[in-house]
Amino acid sequence: MEVVLQNLTKIFPSRIKNGKEVVAVNNFDFTIPDGKLIGLLGPSGCGKSTTLYMLSGLQKPTSGKIFFGADDVTELTPENRGVGLVFQNYALYPHMTVKQNILFPLQNLKGEDRLSKEEMIKRAYDVAALVQIDDLMDRKPSELSGGQQQRVAIARALVKMPRILLLDEPLSNLDARLRLQTREEIKRIQRETLITTVFVTHDQEEAMSISDFIVVMKKGVVQQIGAPQDVYDSPINLFVAKFLGTPPINVFEGEIKEGGLYIGEERVLETPNIEDKKVFVGIRPEGFILDENGPLSCTLQNIEVMGRDVSIVSTNPASASPIVRSIVDADNKVAEGTEKVYFSIKPNKIFIFDHETEERINL
Ligand code: ADP
Ligand code: MG
Repeated sequence: MEVVLQNLTKIFPSRIKNGKEVVAVNNFDFTIPDGKLIGLLGPSGCGKSTTLYMLSGLQKPTSGKIFFGADDVTELTPENRGVGLVFQNYALYPHMTVKQNILFPLQNLKGEDRLSKEEMIKRAYDVAALVQIDDLMDRKPSELSGGQQQRVAIARALVKMPRILLLDEPLSNLDARLRLQTREEIKRIQRETLITTVFVTHDQEEAMSISDFIVVMKKGVVQQIGAPQDVYDSPINLFVAKFLGTPPINVFEGEIKEGGLYIGEERVLETPNIEDKKVFVGIRPEGFILDENGPLSCTLQNIEVMGRDVSIVSTNPASASPIVRSIVDADNKVAEGTEKVYFSIKPNKIFIFDHETEERINL
């Protein structure tokens, strides 16, 4: 099911008297292609949940429209939209078994949607098998791990065969290992069912790893939409560049003059087509090449061995953060007692941003 968000805006009145209203979502305009998994990504408070609640019908947009396929669902209640919702806290009924939890939404169906008892049981077991909890059907939620509980919540969201599936930070309550495993599971389930899915997270790695498209938001405003690799390789502004990538991108104060880009006194790149101005320079950790003739020098702090790679921690007076972190192949040896390290920079891993607007300047 294609999902259209048309100029979607949500404004909350101020919680205090005469205070400023909050524009939680500002003119969100995007068509989610049928059958895709979209990662809605951004820092806490940027409007992710509000967007999801508008899609689900739990909140009404201040303006704008929502379409599922050709249907305008903007005025429909959540029950009438055919959405499956999964939240961070699994919200299972503690006194019911797994089976009863999954059956519950079907038992509430009315009229012609109502299924026979046999059909309900079959559906429940089918989705349980899909999320691989069919051997846990007689347990209570308290007898399950966090990951298993979240699978039950996903099964419960899927059992009514929703037109779209909405997940709000579904992995946040799981420990690191389960988080990895469960996100792979969600990807698999989405691929098998091909239900159009919106997955909300503040964790860029999580969003990058499972999404067909990511939508990066900041303060209610969509910054960039694209395939994860494309957004990573070509961020539209400094915010997006900084938000994606672990370890994060290194940011330097820089200056364009005499047709070149300077970090401090060092001319690190030829930029014949850019006018003179102050800029921010972003260099991805994997964009540094140890090169004794390289143009950028940094003061070595220490070297962290990570097996396949080596992380070189250094400092540079123009760096916006206390350290510069570069990642190079472990075959590179840095001699004991080295004070200065010299780098050349991979051209596709360095980005220049306007100092005022923080918009990317194309080379
Ligand atoms: P996210 O899910 O990205 O963390 P939210 O969508 O929950 O962000 O919130 C976006 C903004 O809207 C925040 O500034 C938040 O404080 C505000 N907000 C959310 N819900 C309400 C509400 N019911 N009333 C007033 N302000 C709200
Ligand atoms: Mg939220």
